[in-house]
Amino acid sequence: MSKEVAVKIGVKYAKQYKMGYPLIQEKAIMNKQVLSQEGTIMRLIDEKNTFIAKAFYGKQNKGYGWVLTHTEEEKIDQSFFQRKLEAAIHKREKLFADKDTTAFRVFNAEGDGIGGLTIDYFAGYYLINWYSIGIYQFHEYVLTSLNNLVDYKAIYQKKRFDTHGQYIEEDGFVAGQRGEFPIIVKENGENFAVYLNEGAMVGVFLDQREVRRTIRDKYAAGKRVLNTFSYTGAFSVFAAKGGALKTTSVDLANRSLAKTIEQFSINNIDYEAQDIIVEDVFHYFKYAARKKLKFDVVILDPPSFARSKKFTFSAAKDYKNLLKEAITITSDNGVVVASTNCATFNMRKFKEFIETACKESNVTYTIKEEFTLPEDFRTSPSFKEGNYLKVVFFQIARQKGE
Ligand code: SAH
Repeated sequence: MSKEVAVKIGVKYAKQYKMGYPLIQEKAIMNKQVLSQEGTIMRLIDEKNTFIAKAFYGKQNKGYGWVLTHTEEEKIDQSFFQRKLEAAIHKREKLFADKDTTAFRVFNAEGDGIGGLTIDYFAGYYLINWYSIGIYQFHEYVLTSLNNLVDYKAIYQKKRFDTHGQYIEEDGFVAGQRGEFPIIVKENGENFAVYLNEGAMVGVFLDQREVRRTIRDKYAAGKRVLNTFSYTGAFSVFAAKGGALKTTSVDLANRSLAKTIEQFSINNIDYEAQDIIVEDVFHYFKYAARKKLKFDVVILDPPSFARSKKFTFSAAKDYKNLLKEAITITSDNGVVVASTNCATFNMRKFKEFIETACKESNVTYTIKEEFTLPEDFRTSPSFKEGNYLKVVFFQIARQKGE
């Protein structure tokens, strides 16, 4: 059993927690001195000592913990975790039954009722991500629940709770039979090589599933496609499968070359007919502009923050300029696929970047598609910033003489 302490919420903040806001902010807590061990259950009470909710103490860059229940009698025990997991699994039944897609999110943190915990499914393997020491205190409950609810080949985990967000688990094996990596998973009929034992990134970002499908089915045929910040080339695979004339993948990381060749190969795409370039994207833009290269589809999916030798990039500050660089090498009537997972600005702001970038580039534009997180990445209606993904496809038209 976890310890329980009464945590007093400031008068300014009580209302938001009564309304269902799930994230415990440091500034909302009046008596921080009662908190010592992460994993402690916090009974949130207001100024009049009235019960508001139960939460757990777990420090993340985002805050001090997450609300678990608004029912005073509800115990935070193994059965609590199992009920949450069972409900989450139930909501993904269609995906579990889908033969063409064998990789998806089973449990999405506060969207499924427990902040700081995500669980992904990869063709019989489960991968647990722990985002705080606090939530990790409940790991036995989560494992027991998985054992009671699902069959699996193996369970792996990543402890992503160091202060720099860089914690790398050596192997992460937890239960079942150790896997041989890569395992090959399917997404809408295409293949991805996935490594659950190699650090934070496993080879594919599952939240872009609908975007990849849309590129393949509606935007790739006969097109020259540039995929920037390409990582393992997941967008390039779907573009090639959709009949792209050629894909060009650009990523700074040395590993991206071999990883991209691997993803093309397991999809029977001749990687020698594609361009895979290990280079700083900002350098590549300059090169492409100088050579007057043009692409019909330009995909932008940068990290929220990145630092390379010559450039630093912050999505909130620099996305507009990134768009302008992309527009310069997009053909007339070409499409820019602009994506960001930066949680510090919303879709409205993101569209303002697009509006301004097009204006300053003397092009008009039409929005063709918009995406936020897919269904399996459930979000809480009381926590809008949890829906971090924003993707906009827009088509540009050059003014005469440009
Ligand atoms: N679009 C990818 C995911 C991108 S992850 C996908 O759908 O799978 C972000 C990638 O950006 C990382 O692979 C990182 O190596 C790369 N990156 C960061 N800064 C970069 C830069 N300045 N130039 C090129 N690539 C960069």
